[in-house]
Amino acid sequence: MANLIDGRAIAKKVRAEVREEVAHLQAQGLTPHLVVLLVGDDPASQIYVRNKARAAEKVGIRSTTYHLPADTPEPALLEFIQDLNTQDDVHGILVQLPLPPHLDSQRILEAIDPQKDVDGLHPENLGRLLAGHPRFLPCTPQGILRMLQEISYNLEGKEAVVVGRSTIVGKPMALLLLQHHATVTMVHSRTRDLAAHTKRADILVVAAGRASLIRGEMVKAGAVVIDVGINRMPDGTLRGDVAFEEVSERAAWITPVPGGVGPMTVAMLLKNTVQAAKLQVGL
Ligand code: NDP
Repeated sequence: MANLIDGRAIAKKVRAEVREEVAHLQAQGLTPHLVVLLVGDDPASQIYVRNKARAAEKVGIRSTTYHLPADTPEPALLEFIQDLNTQDDVHGILVQLPLPPHLDSQRILEAIDPQKDVDGLHPENLGRLLAGHPRFLPCTPQGILRMLQEISYNLEGKEAVVVGRSTIVGKPMALLLLQHHATVTMVHSRTRDLAAHTKRADILVVAAGRASLIRGEMVKAGAVVIDVGINRMPDGTLRGDVAFEEVSERAAWITPVPGGVGPMTVAMLLKNTVQAAKLQVGL
């Protein structure tokens, strides 16, 4: 049976570290401030935004959430972001995705000051990651890296397979694994034989958004399996992209859903916000 990588427990540890750093900054008169923009009424996004705001406040980070109407015109949103960019007491700006279809997400993300881009999705920050000099790491891959560090997993020379190639998870994950000297394969919906790749993986990161895509026989014995997927089932429960029971029989380590990668993502956002505040005051 696989060992569980307990995202909730590790995230708690990260939050304690952040809380300590925030207290230290506050003693110097600096309170990190995160602004979250939610456009429209996507129910999942509303929950995520609420969780982020709560998590921020619990560690002493000031948080402000702006809930804008679903029909907010793009120029108005761009202007809103520009205004936040110029406010010295705003250190982190996060635009919750997905945005309503009439808004060009790329244009919106590019409008955020790269020094306040705590999600790490501005092309300048992604470019820095590609160049091997990251500033803000996207929260989910950063959280996964921290999980691997917590289990003292040495990536050097390992076969890493990343399922999914999104800008938020798959691509930055692959770059981070590469930076840590893994041999990285990326697979996606056009990959011919998914299992042939996943079976080779010493470390398998799955971010496809397809419930139970990865079955037991697709996993190498002794692998580390990280399940990023969050799929809401018709009965209301959440399920990952990995068939947990089956894969647990083969893997050495596995993350649960819920309670795995999700809490880590939020914890890393807090870390990035503190980093942004320090960056902006030159600490
Ligand atoms: P996207 O939909 O942007 O990307 C999904 C990727 O998976 C695409 O690259 C797609 O390939 C690939 N894919 C889809 N189906 C298959 C398949 N059958 N075989 C192989 N590859 C496939 O999703 P995200 O990266 O944003 O998110 C992925 C999942 O992770 C979702 O469930 C999301 O909710 C969850 N998530 C969880 C987070 C957390 O904190 N736990 C944070 C962010 C996301 P192609 O490019 O060819 O279409």
